[in-house]
Amino acid sequence: MTHLVRIEDLVVDYASGDGSVRALDGAELAIGAGETVGIVGESGSGKSTLGAAVGGLLPGAATVARGSVVVADHEVNTLRPNELRALRRERLGYIFQEPIGSLDPTMRIGKQVALALPGSGRRADVLTHLERVRLADPARVAKAYPHQLSGGMAQRVAIAMAMAREPEILIADEPTAALDSQIRAEVLDVIFTLAAEIGTTILWLSHDLPAVAKRCRRVVVMYGGRVVESGSAHAVLDMPWHPYTSALVRAVPGAVAEGERLVSIKGQPPVLTGAAEGCAFAPRCPDALSTCSVDRPPVVSVHERDVLCHLAGQQVGVSR
Ligand code: ATP
Ligand code: SF4
Ligand code: MG
Repeated sequence: MTHLVRIEDLVVDYASGDGSVRALDGAELAIGAGETVGIVGESGSGKSTLGAAVGGLLPGAATVARGSVVVADHEVNTLRPNELRALRRERLGYIFQEPIGSLDPTMRIGKQVALALPGSGRRADVLTHLERVRLADPARVAKAYPHQLSGGMAQRVAIAMAMAREPEILIADEPTAALDSQIRAEVLDVIFTLAAEIGTTILWLSHDLPAVAKRCRRVVVMYGGRVVESGSAHAVLDMPWHPYTSALVRAVPGAVAEGERLVSIKGQPPVLTGAAEGCAFAPRCPDALSTCSVDRPPVVSVHERDVLCHLAGQQVGVSR
């Protein structure tokens, strides 16, 4: 199977003070066209860095120390700036936590949406795109400036712009974290419905495990800058194989509502300054073996599930 996105052994460092922080420490991930993927993990696990790396959007403080990011057969890390802009324009859409950051405060919404459209962006097309994200009064929104919109409306506009060119991949970095819980589900409905209509692959970076379980076919769990488990959301969340996934699932109370953030688990997530020796989860892992803090766990792939754990080979088919 050819993959739309393929990340191999990706290592990314941020310059920080007089040292550096290792945000990705050998992340591996492959995503096929049309998938809905939820990427979860505690704060600092590397979700945003991974999402930014897919579009060559890493900030200046970041260095790709090793590894590769291939999007639609293009190696992102070696593209020239104009090639990278073309890849982003033609194939990728981004939505972030703060929609205001994607909007120009000095320009009317209608004009901004027109600029995001292919071709000349006629007024009728602008209104159609605002309708598609279920804005109640598109004509009024088109005339408004960003500061005149609520957070939910601004995020819908940002979604309309990100989807205007019908991207192959939408990277949504906690797009509802800044919104009221009632509006969150509506905005997620807009994103997932529109993506399904267009056939856009979704990479949704999230803290909201129940919402990911509900909307994504696939879940990717990150810890310490690595993908520690990935596979069908249903299978992974019903029967986690990685001890960290188990802890995450257990930290979410049974009847938790969509919109709740993850309850953190015991101990602190690591802040790495270089490659973690062994498994980064070892200090918090209830199942750790003596080898875990020394030897890097291998990726074990079984039944379309990947697990990065020394125990994984032993526990296939065993409920944790
Ligand atoms: P969150 O859930 O809080 O959004 P995340 O999973 O998206 O977290 P990242 O933002 O990718 O995690 O951060 C991974 C690591 O890199 C963290 O240790 C973080 O402090 C560090 N980091 C991220 N951005 C920068 C930056 N611009 N400069 C320095 N360090 C950074
Ligand atoms: Fe726990 Fe070892 Fe697996 Fe890491 S490799 S999650 S420490 S059992
Ligand atoms: Mg983030």
